[in-house]
Amino acid sequence: MPTCAWRVGDTLGPMNRRSPKEGLHPRNRFRDGYDFEALVACRPALARYVRPNAHGTTSIDFADREAVKALNQALLGHAYQLHDWDIQPGALCPPIPGRSEHLHHLADLLASGADDGLVPRGPVPRGPDVAVLDIGTGASCIYPLIGAREYGWRFVGTEVDAAACVWATGLVAAHPEVSGRIEIRQQPSAQQCFEGVVGGGESFALSMCNPPFHASAEEAAEGNRRKRENLFGKRSRGGGAGRVNPGDRNFGGQAGELWCPGGELGFVQRMITQSAERPALCGWFTTLVSKGAHLPPLSRALRAVEAADVRVLKMAHGQKQSRILAWTFRGRQGA
Ligand code: SAH
Repeated sequence: MPTCAWRVGDTLGPMNRRSPKEGLHPRNRFRDGYDFEALVACRPALARYVRPNAHGTTSIDFADREAVKALNQALLGHAYQLHDWDIQPGALCPPIPGRSEHLHHLADLLASGADDGLVPRGPVPRGPDVAVLDIGTGASCIYPLIGAREYGWRFVGTEVDAAACVWATGLVAAHPEVSGRIEIRQQPSAQQCFEGVVGGGESFALSMCNPPFHASAEEAAEGNRRKRENLFGKRSRGGGAGRVNPGDRNFGGQAGELWCPGGELGFVQRMITQSAERPALCGWFTTLVSKGAHLPPLSRALRAVEAADVRVLKMAHGQKQSRILAWTFRGRQGA
């Protein structure tokens, strides 16, 4: 894929020392760290936020919403030629390397075949014949945008929040290079994953999801406050438990993005039950599971619905561990 065609005369010179990102997938475009020189060349507006950090490398202030947005815009522009991405005011600002990582692991799952290990057996399937259902695509529409550029896949992105749907639809329209391959559909019920957004005759190679993980708005606000304090120290404090500080939303996302009845566990349990009602809808049903402790009850739920194959794809970036739970009914009688 070509990179940005033009460069500005000003470079960051010795400031452009990279900080490689440990453990990322071999195909992850960001595993060698950020090339700030190239990023600024692609998105000059980023320049004002770039500065050396305490580790002797170049970075931005991740507590500054505008800086994070400018970095995201530069990364999407430089790596994927998506030059018109923007974030809905107050919505979640997704880390681009992590979202790409998720897609690369799913690509390997598709390449692995149904019944062997996780080592890709064949080439990663590419192109619009690979249909992907992204449940809860968010205002950022981040998985479809990256996936359509990286692998040429076709996406249906579903979203329960009406304003997020409008924003995501606008982003798709703003990128003609992918607009023919991404469709946004509004999910009328937060309790449903498939019903209401997919037709009877439709099928997908896989479904994917980054589920809301808190069980209440209060828990979401408290989790968000703790996350910011861990990342940026007490200076980021502001909203108490139960109150979403407007500044905190920059990183945590709007309340609806972050919570649902039953939290992550409830959401994925509903997804499992509903997948069993339409076992042939997706070759693989998948979802991110942020808490390792949720895996045992989810495995039990998958046994109860007699999934034919269940896999846990581990993702590690730096200190952070996360995992994708994947299951299929292919091969099961009647599926
Ligand atoms: N995919 C984006 C957003 C994840 S946040 C990202 O990774 O950054 C989870 C999203 O799911 C929110 O936008 C929320 O509004 C949406 N959502 C919650 N329940 C849903 C449901 N049942 N169907 C579709 N979207 C849902």
